[in-house]
Amino acid sequence: MGPDLILDLDCFFASVEQQLDPRLRGRPVAVVPVKSDSTSCIAASKEAKRCGVKTGTRVRDARQLCPDIILVESRPRLYTEYHQRFVTALESRIQVAEVMSIDEAWCLLPKSVNHRTQAEAFARSLKATLTSQVGDWLTYSIGIAPNRFLAKLASDMAKPDGLFMIEQADLPHCLHRLKLRDFCGIGQKMETRLVSHGIRTVAQLTSATRETLHHVWGGIGGVHLWHWLRGEVTETPPTQRRTIGHSHVLPTRLRNDLGTHAVVCRLLQKAAMRLRKMGSLHLSPGALHQVHQQPHLVLRHLLLRYTGHLPSAGSPRGALGTPPPQTGPGAQGHGRQSLRPCPRHQGHPQPPQL
Ligand SMILES: [Mg+2]
Repeated sequence: MGPDLILDLDCFFASVEQQLDPRLRGRPVAVVPVKSDSTSCIAASKEAKRCGVKTGTRVRDARQLCPDIILVESRPRLYTEYHQRFVTALESRIQVAEVMSIDEAWCLLPKSVNHRTQAEAFARSLKATLTSQVGDWLTYSIGIAPNRFLAKLASDMAKPDGLFMIEQADLPHCLHRLKLRDFCGIGQKMETRLVSHGIRTVAQLTSATRETLHHVWGGIGGVHLWHWLRGEVTETPPTQRRTIGHSHVLPTRLRNDLGTHAVVCRLLQKAAMRLRKMGSLHLSPGALHQVHQQPHLVLRHLLLRYTGHLPSAGSPRGALGTPPPQTGPGAQGHGRQSLRPCPRHQGHPQPPQL
């Protein structure tokens, strides 16, 4: 029995909404950033998924696929609360190696668990703990395998509310029913590369030589995959974060200059705070204040610093680098192009000290 266990909350945001509102239980629910036909679903309940609605489905299409779908506006703070509850409950029962995302964690099975039946019993009792401590409507998909890569794959093979175990003896045939795109790291481009090397099926992938995969991947990634498919564990260098970002879909009421400005302030502030936490940006309290007060100057400063130039005034981002003259708070909004500082923040042309 492998020591790796991946646990994935099913339909997380939609399930939290159903947990909090019993009227939504058993019904097709989609969580959306704003109630508008032009936006996309950011989560779908199991019932909505059965109709073909997925994360990323346009609301317009979701209504066609599932005419009685219930749209719920997202409540990120609540999802964070449930995430914390989920991690706390998990840590009370098992060693958590890494919290991979808001609804997914990589754990290590206790050493005392070394038979299939013991692992099944442990996974069942883990689910029972989570049900009692996090919420009785939430369900989990668990994958257990000899390494993290296969455990993740196994958790995807048993959705929703499932448990799938891969043992050394099951390899590679238990993977043969999958498609190449089911594997983490194989997107459209990589699939095309594999096909160009004569690899069209998972059976062909698992029997390919280490050299072939090294060649297809153009580097060590293919070698790691070759080992992982055999249930082996390899050391991978920690990934280096290169970007951080925050985004927010503007609700209709904020689709104007002042609303956009306020949201840009908040997003910049959040990004700067995270950078500072990561030790990548040393912001004094005064500079952080400026991030909030004068986001257009911060953007200008960052654009100059990292690109060496400012976008022209006519480009979509031009207004961010060079705010147009202020025409009063009652002016009609023109999206990002007319973004400018609030009237009360005029007359402070110094760039922020970052
Ligand atoms: Mg999930």
